[in-house]
Amino acid sequence: MLPSVHRVPAFSDNYIWLFEYAPDHVAVVDPADAGPVLAAAADRKLRITHILNTHWHPDHVGGNLAIKNASGCSIIGPRREQAKIPGIDRAVGEGDVVSLGDHHGEVLFVGAHTAGHIAFHFASANVLFPGDTLFAMGCGRLFEGSAADMFAALARLRGLPADTRVFCAHEYTLSNARFAVTVEPDNAALAARYAAVQQARRNHQPTVPFTLLEELETNPFIRARTVAELAARRSAKDAF
Ligand code: ZN
Ligand code: FE
Repeated sequence: MLPSVHRVPAFSDNYIWLFEYAPDHVAVVDPADAGPVLAAAADRKLRITHILNTHWHPDHVGGNLAIKNASGCSIIGPRREQAKIPGIDRAVGEGDVVSLGDHHGEVLFVGAHTAGHIAFHFASANVLFPGDTLFAMGCGRLFEGSAADMFAALARLRGLPADTRVFCAHEYTLSNARFAVTVEPDNAALAARYAAVQQARRNHQPTVPFTLLEELETNPFIRARTVAELAARRSAKDAF
């Protein structure tokens, strides 16, 4: 059986993930805020052993210190941003392995949204935590990197198994879908997904996780064939 990943919503649109890599033991991915994480862990009797940070933005590390103080967990984050990761114990980069119980996750360098952004891929659990790099039908804004950097980052993720379950850090799906259908008006899979996510959001249901295959079929950013095409789509979305 694949491990559970528990959702903890925070702020207006953040998702914090509790990756239950062994029974009752969790790693917290990108804790925007400590309160809801500690409450969820207490409710479900989960022991927090690790925090995994994908990048330094406050809505991804804001809960680090309070969760560490409450649980004694250890914090793993991006080497190139370690000075900006509160409480970091272990700095990691491309090719490093993060072992949680029987699951050995690969660290992928995906710098673009921020310069040192990383993603965590646990192949044995079939999960990817891409932070703010890949969203449903979208990608992260280019705050510190270039379109070429994002093209390389998405190419890295594109190579993972298509059935990988993707747990991104925000519920941006509806806004992404509205834009995506303007880029690919003839994409039937995209039109169907747009209808499905409208329905889900009307019913206040989350649209994350999703599979990498869905992105390969409907996400205009991961589907961009060239850096120039990706750059044009990213700027158009910024102004959408
Ligand atoms: Zn961010
Ligand atoms: Fe974010």
